[in-house]
Amino acid sequence: MLLYNSLTRKRDEFIPNEEGKVSMYTCGPTVYHYAHIGNLRSYIMEDVLEKHLRYLGYDVKRVMNITDVGHLTSDADEGEDKMLKGAKREKKTVMDIARFYTDAFFADCKKLNIKTPDEVVPATSCIDEFIKVITSLIEKGFAYEAGGNIYFDTSKLEEYYVFNDFKEEDLAVGVREGVEGDNNKRNKADFVLWFTKSKFDDQELKWESPWGVGYPGWHIECSCISMKTLGEKLDIHCGGIDNAFPHHTNEIAQSEAFLGHKWCNYWMHVHHLNTTGGKMSKSKGEFLTVSLLEEKGYDPLVYRFFCLQSHYRKSLVFSYENLDNATAAFNKLLAKVIPLHKAEKGEIDTATFDALKTKFREALDNDLNTSLAVTALYDVLKANTTPATKIALIDDFDRVLSLDINAKALAAIEKEKAEAAEKANDPFIMKIESLIEERKNAKKEKNYARADEIRNELTAMGVTLIDTAQGTQYKID
Ligand code: AMP
Ligand code: ZN
Repeated sequence: MLLYNSLTRKRDEFIPNEEGKVSMYTCGPTVYHYAHIGNLRSYIMEDVLEKHLRYLGYDVKRVMNITDVGHLTSDADEGEDKMLKGAKREKKTVMDIARFYTDAFFADCKKLNIKTPDEVVPATSCIDEFIKVITSLIEKGFAYEAGGNIYFDTSKLEEYYVFNDFKEEDLAVGVREGVEGDNNKRNKADFVLWFTKSKFDDQELKWESPWGVGYPGWHIECSCISMKTLGEKLDIHCGGIDNAFPHHTNEIAQSEAFLGHKWCNYWMHVHHLNTTGGKMSKSKGEFLTVSLLEEKGYDPLVYRFFCLQSHYRKSLVFSYENLDNATAAFNKLLAKVIPLHKAEKGEIDTATFDALKTKFREALDNDLNTSLAVTALYDVLKANTTPATKIALIDDFDRVLSLDINAKALAAIEKEKAEAAEKANDPFIMKIESLIEERKNAKKEKNYARADEIRNELTAMGVTLIDTAQGTQYKID
């Protein structure tokens, strides 16, 4: 498989550290608010990567953190702790906020068929681990204490800016947002590992440490949780493009300084979902959540389909018009799958199955070309083969796409049947059908007077009869 690697700035052949096994780490949500559909684009595309690796036969172990402390409003360690901000907004405790929005995040993921990672680790559960790594960084000369906080000294590294191919605007999230600079830093790029002398006296969550009572910085969380759960060598680390700098850059700095060797081989970054008005926001404009889409009548899996239609390394523009187009395309697709389930299935044609499966796999092997993978799905529907082959291929592709295509087609058929049964039990319909039957018999017996009488009776009931070669049909006005 070829995977674009932000470290080498090209598509690299994916070769895991251990044959047949993949360790994968994902930056999890900061649980101070609902996830917006932009955040969820990142998680959908990372889910596709994980599922494709499993599809290829790898034994994947994936870990995600939950940021419930330490992520400040500016990614560059300044501003206010986002969790505290959320707690103040809702007049609840930080832990209540964390619990509520963690549950909400996984509920959204479930609606989007995003698999829960094998391990989900809240940052607040790993404080001892953070202290251990920070202590070692100080001992090794990579960290210093200043003004009560512990900082990572970026000047001690041969190379700090490892991902230098990003555009200014992609990095903009990481730079200061009108908050005052930190004079304790020896170098501009240094970052906080542990806050003790916090500017925020009301910080709710604080822990004892060798440097005084305080709390961890955001970046150290991911390094420590990844090393603790996935070991010293990581295969793939994922996140949205805004995480590349400073978050992932800092993760690499501190992990490799601690380990003394290369840490992660592949860095996968999902580009942003934007609105027609620009950047997606949780505070300005319409706060686009999965629940909002549902309230407006959209199926969350149509949003997943919309994301799959474009490449993860291109920014994507969300608009209701675009989502309407995705809905129409998805419904058209389902309309082609429904008849397959009603037809005589036949046998699976293995030659056709293998050829179409190869096409699908090759699309995803090429740096997750999901739009081409969706095209392979249309090729299945167009193929000159048995319904059994097509149904089996759709199931096979859905191991990665996770659009529930066959299940949705079967549900539509069940719904159709239930509606027909309901209609058959409706006294009004039963009356119409028995009168039509009686009229048919009257005509057979040449009792045209009775046949006309029945027609008139039905007309009075608001029913128009249509005699066709196949028999009498009717229309209710
Ligand atoms: P956060 O909860 O802010 O830590 O972000 C969760 C994930 O969403 C991170 O991987 C971010 O990089 C990613 N992300 C943030 N905004 C967007 C966006 N507009 N489009 C895609 N991913 C995003
Ligand atoms: Zn992270």
